[in-house]
Amino acid sequence: MAWDFETDDEFAQQLVWMREFIDTQLIPLEPIYDRLPRDEWRVVEAHLQNQVKERGLWGVFLDPKLGGAGFGQLKLALMSEVIGRCMMSMGIFGVQAPDSGNMELLAHGATDEQKERWLWPNLRGEISSAFALTEPFFAGADPTAIGTTAVMDGDEWVINGHKWFITNASVADILLVFAETSPEGRPHRHASVFVVPTDTPGLDIVRDIATMAHPDVEFGRLGNHAELVFRDCRVPADHLIGQPGDGFVLAQQRLGGGRIHHAMRWLGQAQRSLDIMCERAVSRTSHGKVLGAHQMVQDYVALSHMEIQAARLLTFNTAWKVDKFGAAAVRADLGMIKAHVSKVVLAVLDRTIQVCGALGYSSDLPVESWYRNTRFGPIGDGPDELHKSVLARTLLKSYKPVDGWPSEHIPSRVPAAEAKWAELRDRAGVEESRT
Ligand SMILES: Cc1cc2nc3c(=O)[nH]c(=O)nc-3n(C[C@H](O)[C@H](O)[C@H](O)COP(=O)(O)OP(=O)(O)OC[C@H]3O[C@@H](n4cnc5c(N)ncnc54)[C@H](O)[C@@H]3O)c2cc1C
Repeated sequence: MAWDFETDDEFAQQLVWMREFIDTQLIPLEPIYDRLPRDEWRVVEAHLQNQVKERGLWGVFLDPKLGGAGFGQLKLALMSEVIGRCMMSMGIFGVQAPDSGNMELLAHGATDEQKERWLWPNLRGEISSAFALTEPFFAGADPTAIGTTAVMDGDEWVINGHKWFITNASVADILLVFAETSPEGRPHRHASVFVVPTDTPGLDIVRDIATMAHPDVEFGRLGNHAELVFRDCRVPADHLIGQPGDGFVLAQQRLGGGRIHHAMRWLGQAQRSLDIMCERAVSRTSHGKVLGAHQMVQDYVALSHMEIQAARLLTFNTAWKVDKFGAAAVRADLGMIKAHVSKVVLAVLDRTIQVCGALGYSSDLPVESWYRNTRFGPIGDGPDELHKSVLARTLLKSYKPVDGWPSEHIPSRVPAAEAKWAELRDRAGVEESRT
């Protein structure tokens, strides 16, 4: 089967424009981004977003057949790699998680009326959304076990439960809440997804959780992760997405593409980190030669480059497969790239810190904060162990058990080998050996 990762000239030009736009308009702001006045930033942000919209590059994660302006997963992978160079780019290009995944879910499951109310305003950037699945007292790795319930009462759903680590919930306008509606439907038909506006009575946004990315968390900032409690929180019947029991299938819709976007953004970050490592390696001297002349540092540079290149190809290949066969057909591949690339980026960041020494460990370089931010990778969107397990089970399905010796057992293969030898000798016309 032929693989083709080449893109047309017009799209290649778009990538060049993106790279230049990010390098000249966004990256220069990074050192002061956290202390920019929020109200002024919103005006500048809209100004930058308008330039992206004019280029036709806004919110392109959504497939045209779902009503979006997307170009398919392969092109999106190439874009995500450029976007990954700078964390603030996601919002400027309208592809930020969790909104992008939420919109994919709504595009698949919402009615036209629901799309008008929530999907299109979210896609235009007029409202923002969060996705509330994980709970403190049930393993997030196993969404078949959740404690949050939704019960029909008249023409309303009444939601009770406890969620946490809900990214952007403290700044979002709506939550997509995963709640159990029919326990008898376990494991995969028990839950449903509801849209809950964040000003709904009964929803308590308890706090934003301090994390290794933000140990001194300030409530209500983009990118925070909130703890939520639902106490008899009522939403109208038409806030259910899809049918009761569709939750699991809908939740899968938002995770597939998201894993490719994560993987490619991580690779963009890994490459920028490698650039920092290499610049240091050719600039600083130790024991009479530049760091890059020491073989162990060369190993860090070469290994990082090899891992990034291999991971890029793996991710492009998966994106290409999604475009060709659909996300459902390559579920194991999507988990594989997430589990693989999350390790590659952390390994490259770690080596960069090492090569930069104390400077690398300090906040004078961005790498330590990237490391802390990206450490969620092997945990979020389902832990990597789970994805590896799905991959292994998928691979194992195509193997059949054998009785006795393995089919590659050399002594057992000798009779067949001798028969094959006799056959080939006959066919080739080898004369009887005289010795
Ligand atoms: C930064 C960040 C943002 C997040 N944003 C959101 C969000 O917006 N919305 C949301 O709903 N959730 C969010 N989450 C939660 C995330 O999806 C969960 O953390 C993740 O699914 C793992 O669940 P858990 O934390 O409960 O870990 P657990 O399920 O308790 O698992 C803990 C560990 O046990 C091991 N383990 C678990 N199951 C298996 C298994 N089957 N096989 C082998 N090992 C296993 C793994 O090592 C795993 O890391 C976020 C998490 C982080 C860190």
